[in-house]
Amino acid sequence: MTNEITRVVIIGGGSAGWLAAGIIAASCPAQVQISLIESPDVSTIGVGEGTWPTMRSTLESMGISETDFFRECDASFKQGSKFSRWTSLSASDDYYHPFSLPTKYHEINLAPYWLPFKSKIQFANAVSAQAAICDLGLAPKQISTPEYATLLNYGYHLDAGKFAPFLHRHCVEKLGVRYISANVTQVNNQDNGDIQSITTDSAGTLEGDLFIDCSGLASLLLGKHYAIPFLSKKNILFNDTAVAVQIPYAEAEIGTESENAIRPYTLSTAQSAGWIWDIGLQSRRGVGHVFSSAHSSDEMAERELRSYIAPAVGEAAAQSLSIRKITFNPGHRQTFWHKNCVAIGLSAGFIEPLEATALVLIELSAKMIGEQFPVNRSAMDILAKRFNQTLTHHWQRIVDFLKLHYVMSQRRDSEYWCDNQLENTIPETLQELLELWKTQSPWVHDEVLRTEMFPSASYQYIYYGMKGGSNTAMPIKRPEAEAQARKKAEALFGENIQRTRQLTKVLLPHRELIEKIKEFGLQKI
Ligand SMILES: Cc1cc2nc3c(=O)[nH]c(=O)nc-3n(C[C@H](O)[C@H](O)[C@H](O)COP(=O)(O)OP(=O)(O)OC[C@H]3O[C@@H](n4cnc5c(N)ncnc54)[C@H](O)[C@@H]3O)c2cc1C
Repeated sequence: MTNEITRVVIIGGGSAGWLAAGIIAASCPAQVQISLIESPDVSTIGVGEGTWPTMRSTLESMGISETDFFRECDASFKQGSKFSRWTSLSASDDYYHPFSLPTKYHEINLAPYWLPFKSKIQFANAVSAQAAICDLGLAPKQISTPEYATLLNYGYHLDAGKFAPFLHRHCVEKLGVRYISANVTQVNNQDNGDIQSITTDSAGTLEGDLFIDCSGLASLLLGKHYAIPFLSKKNILFNDTAVAVQIPYAEAEIGTESENAIRPYTLSTAQSAGWIWDIGLQSRRGVGHVFSSAHSSDEMAERELRSYIAPAVGEAAAQSLSIRKITFNPGHRQTFWHKNCVAIGLSAGFIEPLEATALVLIELSAKMIGEQFPVNRSAMDILAKRFNQTLTHHWQRIVDFLKLHYVMSQRRDSEYWCDNQLENTIPETLQELLELWKTQSPWVHDEVLRTEMFPSASYQYIYYGMKGGSNTAMPIKRPEAEAQARKKAEALFGENIQRTRQLTKVLLPHRELIEKIKEFGLQKI
């Protein structure tokens, strides 16, 4: 074996395996050969239907046509999330976390200027057009907007069962990835502890220089072979079980009022010991209840799920539809890149899908590997160290960000919501941010890395959406500077109202745009 890294072997053909294959193939040096091995017997997890806007540039960088993606993956537009009953039990309690940043976000922090009006207009509505566009059920672009370009920022909802095969075809046909269908039965080390090869049941032994573990919750290489410790986060984020169901649309209607419209956002409705996701694809809805098994029985969670879907499908169907149960241990591995092996996807860790952070972390991990590809073994250790530091930071930020949704809640109607307030369940890093935000608003200074997964705007949307912040606690600038900033903020609030009106006139209902894309296609950039 030479010191050069030219053979990448990926174990697993779920979303993680194929995204990793495509992203690395599109950005690594030309001499690198990528092989992906997948078990014909172990199916992929088959869930994971919400993405971040990063997925646009990911698909584009792999050379995928956005039109083909819409045609083949049952995809729809996701412009953010709407959280219902998270702050209180009231039926009218809801707020948006839209993907578009507040207007002129990097020039001015609008939050302090919105705070005096917080009882009149929600934060997301004051600073961006997107929440209003979502409420109207409109798409984020026009049919004349080229592929991947936006009028409003967006990611996707997709059918995970169609997405992996779609990526598979593209990676094999267009990016030269070699596919092997076999079960990995043994992992063979070199003397220095690196993996030399893997043995399979039907395709012989496969040697490699860099092994990527995308084997899902089995975590064959990093977890089983190397026994890298698993850091559980269950004491912070309690949810560890999901019950999921797919429900049909009765008929394809256009609009928002009907249960049959496609919502251009993920709807997340808080329950007594968890929350229900509701994702609209072109042909069906994916609905699931994520909950804490320490606070709810399976039966109770299923009952809440069935009563949630009953208005859409009818009482009889709601009781008879088959429900799938998935259990997971929230947390992640202590390190992600060990020796010549790096884990991506569920094999690296998983925490509840509240903000769809899993696929974005897969994209980010694969991008780091592809763009900074270690051309030799000495470079690998340096990149591994950097990768581990960066990923540890991202996991910590994910945990803090998700916990923020629970800490900000004023619900005390069950043990679950009360337990979420216990100080020993709130990471110190989040406690510090909450202390800081008593006197200054979340903003760009909270972004430690250039490549943060969540912009600080996301913290603003959750914090203010859940009624955080008080304008009396905010320091006021010197009179002239204050007057100037206030004038600018007020002008931007006004511009936002104008932009919302303009967009309302030119954007099509969500389902109508998708139908047009499928029929005519989007312009290539
Ligand atoms: C309830 C739930 C909801 C979720 N919702 C979202 C969401 O909205 N957004 C989001 O971003 N993420 C979400 N996720 C996470 C998302 O589903 C996963 O991150 C994503 O699907 C990647 O999975 P994976 O490829 O790592 O694993 P898997 O899909 O499980 O794939 C594992 C692969 O490894 C292969 N394999 C296993 N053993 C062997 C072997 N011995 N030999 C060869 N191959 C083997 C299997 O055949 C399979 O191909 C959700 C997860 C859950 C549990």
